[in-house]
Amino acid sequence: MDPITFKTENGIFDFAKSDVFERLKFHKKELNSLEADMIEKYLSCGGGGCHHNIVPEEYDYFCIIALELIEKEKGSVSCKKCDETFKASELKSIKVGHGRTPFEENARTEKGRLRFRAIFGERWFRVAIDNIKNPFRKKNSNPPMFGGKGYACPNDHELITLVTWRT
Ligand SMILES: [Zn+2]
Repeated sequence: MDPITFKTENGIFDFAKSDVFERLKFHKKELNSLEADMIEKYLSCGGGGCHHNIVPEEYDYFCIIALELIEKEKGSVSCKKCDETFKASELKSIKVGHGRTPFEENARTEKGRLRFRAIFGERWFRVAIDNIKNPFRKKNSNPPMFGGKGYACPNDHELITLVTWRT
């Protein structure tokens, strides 16, 4: 079965079609995600010898799906800078902004004064979805803090990043 390909600035990701569709269906059902529905329709393409295996750039929602799959050590990525392919399990987890979760940073600052919009565990992507939908949403604190997570290749080339929380 052909893999689904997703490109970022430095990486070309390949995921098994069944894994991608499992996540898309979950997002549709559990999160009522119209974006997931749109991407699923595009990739299924109604049969008839039509093959859409590359996720178009404008579907930035797919970044969430990709990150979820990498977290589960599914898929592989070719790093453009190394010109090498790595398994998801070989990638390095990296932090964005103020950390993967507010507590990474907040442990060193005043506790309890910031109101976090972060959602942990299986639900972090709800915030990521909100950020994608409302990139210019009014910030409510000063200075605002934000963070997220991503992955780099074993040689520290940043391959994918996503903001998953902000104050
Ligand atoms: Zn690299």
